[in-house]
Amino acid sequence: MSSLAPVDVSGRCGRAFTAASERFGIDALLVTSLNDIRWLTGFSGSTGVMVVRAGSSTLITDGRYVHQASEQLSNAGANVDVVLAKDSVDTLESISDAVRGSSKCGYDPNELTVRQLQQYSASITSELIGVDGVIQHLRRIKSVPEQQRISAASEIADRALAHVEPLLTSALTSDVTERDVRDELEMLMRRFGADGPSYETIVATGVNSALPHHRPTFALLREGQSVVIDVGALVDGYHSDMTRTYLLGDCDAELVRMHQLVKEAQALGVRAVKAGVIASEIDGACRDLFGQYGLGHEFSHGTGHGVGLQIHEMPWLRKNANEPLQVGEVVTVEPGLYRVGLGGVRIEDLVLVESTGCHVFTHSQKEHLCLRSPLTT
Ligand code: ZN
Ligand code: ZN
Repeated sequence: MSSLAPVDVSGRCGRAFTAASERFGIDALLVTSLNDIRWLTGFSGSTGVMVVRAGSSTLITDGRYVHQASEQLSNAGANVDVVLAKDSVDTLESISDAVRGSSKCGYDPNELTVRQLQQYSASITSELIGVDGVIQHLRRIKSVPEQQRISAASEIADRALAHVEPLLTSALTSDVTERDVRDELEMLMRRFGADGPSYETIVATGVNSALPHHRPTFALLREGQSVVIDVGALVDGYHSDMTRTYLLGDCDAELVRMHQLVKEAQALGVRAVKAGVIASEIDGACRDLFGQYGLGHEFSHGTGHGVGLQIHEMPWLRKNANEPLQVGEVVTVEPGLYRVGLGGVRIEDLVLVESTGCHVFTHSQKEHLCLRSPLTT
């Protein structure tokens, strides 16, 4: 992945400060989410707190990250002072120094424990004001280098899934477990250049496939079952997300029908994605089709979510999500039908919102109905 252009973060601290100060009247912004810090500065360490102010920003981290922080910040074009703190007391003092002189300091209530809030309140003299999701909102729109990472992660997952299909076919004649398939996928994604899986890979077969977030077990893949595989790769901090459903050998006619319907609903959802469309309308495009067949109750989750530095982030594509999609957002479209005792089907693509439609990052085939073992003569 060495050919990827760096993610240029210059100007992001200023944009975050302006957004928070205009909306909440703050004059300093405390940032405690590591994903937000990475988005603002390019810093990917596991410890850090930031204070963003008009014209200056400070990253407080510990001694392990002294070289990494200065190198990553300069590569990313971040104009941020780095302060090293030796322990938690030192960190609190450094935050207090960086906030000094402000009267209202914003923090994101989604990203602090009650204990941390108590500690910050005790050591910071300015008034602490909850500012909800300001940076997460800005993170919705991905720059071209960010899109390239998501695209590269999607390609890796596509490649790994294509390589794992012979293993699925072999399940018709030998013992293959959900965990075997997961292990193979995760090994292949690393081999193809991923830093790791994007999340815990889901491989769910038979009745397990009726559970949208099933974790792989030693259950054997067997003829007649649906197998839901939800897989993504991680590339330089950015995630991909994709689901395909395979039907093994001769399957119940109901599973075949569910697969056809989910494929149709998913295509309707992808076709509905473009800038300006209200997020709930994408959800409606998928949900309405299931409703026409009396199966709305079997679609038990939202249609999609944003993907970036986090696997689930803004925007949300679900009922009552009344914000319009914007050019540069990366979202999933993933309707599914889940029937307890029989099985489930989900098909998920990752797409980039464009002004006239969307660009699909995930390319794995969706026609994998009734895989069969090769004929022997
Ligand atoms: Zn997924
Ligand atoms: Zn997803």
